[in-house]
Amino acid sequence: QLADESVGMEELLISPLRLEPHTSLPLPPVLFGSHAGARANSTGLDLTVPAMRDPLLAAYAAVQVPQVPEFDVKNIPDAYADCASSYQKWSKTGVTERAAILRRAADALQAQTPHFCALLVKEAFKTWGDAVAEVREAVDFLRYYADEAERIMAPIAMPGPTGESNELRLIARGVWVCISPWNFPLAIFAGQVAAALATGNTVLAKPAEQTPGVALEAVRLLHAAGVPADALQLLHGAGDTVGAALVAQPGVAGVVFTGSTQVAKIIHRALAAKDGPIVPLIAETGGINAMVVDSTALPEQVSDAVVQSAFRSAGQRCSALRLLCLHEQIADPVIAMIRGAAQELVAGDPADLATDVGPVIDREAFDGIQKHLLRLNSESKRLLAPAGIAQAATNSIANLIPPQAFEVPSIAAMQQEIFGPVLHIVRWSGDPLAVIEQINALGYGLTIGIQTRIDSRAQALARASHVGNVYINRNQIGAVVGVQPFGGEGLSGTGPKAGGPHYLARFCAEQTITVNT
Ligand code: NAP
Repeated sequence: QLADESVGMEELLISPLRLEPHTSLPLPPVLFGSHAGARANSTGLDLTVPAMRDPLLAAYAAVQVPQVPEFDVKNIPDAYADCASSYQKWSKTGVTERAAILRRAADALQAQTPHFCALLVKEAFKTWGDAVAEVREAVDFLRYYADEAERIMAPIAMPGPTGESNELRLIARGVWVCISPWNFPLAIFAGQVAAALATGNTVLAKPAEQTPGVALEAVRLLHAAGVPADALQLLHGAGDTVGAALVAQPGVAGVVFTGSTQVAKIIHRALAAKDGPIVPLIAETGGINAMVVDSTALPEQVSDAVVQSAFRSAGQRCSALRLLCLHEQIADPVIAMIRGAAQELVAGDPADLATDVGPVIDREAFDGIQKHLLRLNSESKRLLAPAGIAQAATNSIANLIPPQAFEVPSIAAMQQEIFGPVLHIVRWSGDPLAVIEQINALGYGLTIGIQTRIDSRAQALARASHVGNVYINRNQIGAVVGVQPFGGEGLSGTGPKAGGPHYLARFCAEQTITVNT
């Protein structure tokens, strides 16, 4: 029944047309505050409106990215000792007070949106749209985890046949090491830290080397809101020195890591090799994210979803689309449409209001992607040429890679995550479940997009997909905190869903108290 050729006209006619919901100017996204109820994964930003544009530009003119000194690895045991001592007090601070502090931080962050956006544009080369979305996501994390901590930290009575009083409660574990990436230097940093703090843990936080300034400003804001200085410490430095030493530090109660699969495995091995207690690791890593498009899909919707998912943020999102699997009957018109849409994109200086695609983060990332492109150029068919993109600044902006697409021989040819605006396309025919099986066999499991107008097929493909997040008939980026819990399995992570109702429990131990009454 799932073979593509089996689609009957009747089935097509009863399946409603759903147009991509994120195409026009959307509503503001802060879900857990004054904008409650709005959609959260789009920005609502219209830079032609002076009231929206001018504060951002003024902040950009004024902002200085703070210089953050490198932390001396020799001092990590002392930092740990202070953090562990602070844990004694912070874990006993009531959850209501901890939540109030996080909400104060959220309010302050929201009030300073232009400043943090400007920082993100300057230090992380975010476009303005991405910067606004990221600040709002960070605000959402702070408010959501404040709410969640209050919900889950309450003890649960466990009545039963034993004739005793039984109660289950969550308790903080101790000092958590939070290691974050540069691609969401505010939202992921704040999300990790807020989750640990809300549950009564204390934090040693190591941001990515490329973006310590955003992290420092976030820590200052949290301290100003009431988090004690020793309960949240920023330790900036290289991953293989400061990061590795933090992981190795005796006494650490848990590690939350967001970054590459390769580094997650290094950390996993290091934790396993430690003497003493078994230390939990929450790892949120990369993906080779696919979109499967059948012959009933709406080409306009597919094209819009592909351009957003593959090229927005210069492809530097863990959820970004890497592998587009097009049914052969629809492939040529869809590719033509994607080409047309992508040629409208402006690649250039992220500070420029018109820019859709900014540069990749640094020279190392640029060189790695260029190497991959060279290989693709010699082995694959180019479908989207960078020369066709409106890109006045390509030669003057460092590390700019305009969006491009190639037809690759097979799904199995995709062996590693390419973290940039490069789309790989394959054609398929026959059973779409066989396509899902090949995607599953890659071993990653973060996001998948499914585009079809046959609801039963969408559900069957979703169920067969070994991924954390399935997006049907829309783009596959921009999960909304508290609404679309986000996180992957397999090579994409250990499974916890950031922004979801089970996340905070991963930062806690559980204790059952039984009283003989
Ligand atoms: P990365 O190179 O793995 O680095 C992530 C963090 O780990 C950085 O702070 C890094 O420090 C640190 N690190 C490096 N080596 C370490 C070691 N031996 N011990 C301890 N820490 C170490 O990743 P990235 O390039 O920053 O970020 C991009 C990756 O993150 C992509 O793979 C993307 O898919 C993934 N990601 C996943 C999610 C998700 O939710 N699943 C979200 C966002 C990003 P340095 O900066 O000093 O290297």
